Amino acid sequence: MQHTLKQPYTFNGKGLHTGVVTTMTIRPAEPGSGICFRRTDIGSDAVVKALATNVTSTDRGTTISCEGASVSTIEHLMSAAAALGVDNMMVDIDGPEVPILDGSALPYVKAILADGLAGQDAERRTLAPQRPFHFEDDASGATIDIYPTEECEMQLTVDFNSKVLGVQRFKYDASVDYVSQIAPCRTFCFFHELEFLASKGLIKGGDMDNAIVIVEHPVDNATLERMRSLFHAEQLEVREGYLNNLHLHFPDEIVRHKMLDMIGDFALLGAPIKGTIIACKTGHRINTAVCKSLLQSDILKLL
Ligand SMILES: [Zn+2]
Repeated sequence: MQHTLKQPYTFNGKGLHTGVVTTMTIRPAEPGSGICFRRTDIGSDAVVKALATNVTSTDRGTTISCEGASVSTIEHLMSAAAALGVDNMMVDIDGPEVPILDGSALPYVKAILADGLAGQDAERRTLAPQRPFHFEDDASGATIDIYPTEECEMQLTVDFNSKVLGVQRFKYDASVDYVSQIAPCRTFCFFHELEFLASKGLIKGGDMDNAIVIVEHPVDNATLERMRSLFHAEQLEVREGYLNNLHLHFPDEIVRHKMLDMIGDFALLGAPIKGTIIACKTGHRINTAVCKSLLQSDILKLL
C-alpha cells in the first residue's frame, strides 16, 4: 500500500550553493499525488512535481522546475523519502534551495522515523523494466545498466582517479540498513575545486561542517590561507588527504554518499523500480538523464 507522513516536519537552514536560508515543511499528501515541492514564497500554485521530466539543472545538485518555480538540491530529501517508503509528500519551501543541514539525509530520516509512516488506502505502483537497458557517456566514461529483477538493487562504482579515495564500490539492496549505513553519509568535494566552485557562485552555503573536503594535491600556505578566509575557518589544516573539519563516518563514506544521491535521483522516476541498476562513475547529470529517457520510453511498465 502507499504511505505518507504521519505529520508535518519543519527544517531551517541555508542552501549549500545559494547560501539562502529557507524554511521547509514536509507534509502528508493524498494517495497518488507523489512527491511535490511548493514554492510558498511565489504562490500556492507554484508546485513542481518531483519527476525526472522536470529536471532543469544538475550542476552539483538536482534542480527541478515548472512554470517559473524551481527548487534545487532536492536529492537528499528525495533519497530519504524513497528509502523510507514515503510515496506521497508535499514539500513547502519559501526559497530556491533545500537546506543542506549537515550534508546528509539523517535529519530527515530521524524526524520521519520518530513517528513512522501513515498507511493509505491505495495500492503502491511499481515500475518494471521490460528489457535490459544500457547507457554510456563517452565524455566521462560513465555507464548505467538496468535489468529486470523482482527486488530493487543498486550497485555503484566511484572512480575519480583519486589517490585519496581509490576506487570505491557499494551495493544497496534490502539487506542494507539505509538508516545506519547510508543516511549519515555527507556530501563532499575536492579541495582543488573549491575556488572554482566559489568563482561560479556555487557553495555559498558551504562552511566546512556540512561537507567532506578531499585534498588530492599538496597545498601551499597561501592557498590554505585563502581557503581559511573564504570559509571563515581559521583552524583549517590538511590531514591524511582530507581537510580537518570532520571525521569520516565510514572509510568509504564517499561512495555511500553517492549511493544516497543515486537513490534520490532514481526516486525521480516517480515510483519504485523492480530492477537492478548497475552504475559506474555516474552523478546527478547522468542519473537524471537516464530517468528522463526511461520515462519517455516504453521500457518501464507501471504495474
Ligand atoms: Zn549529495
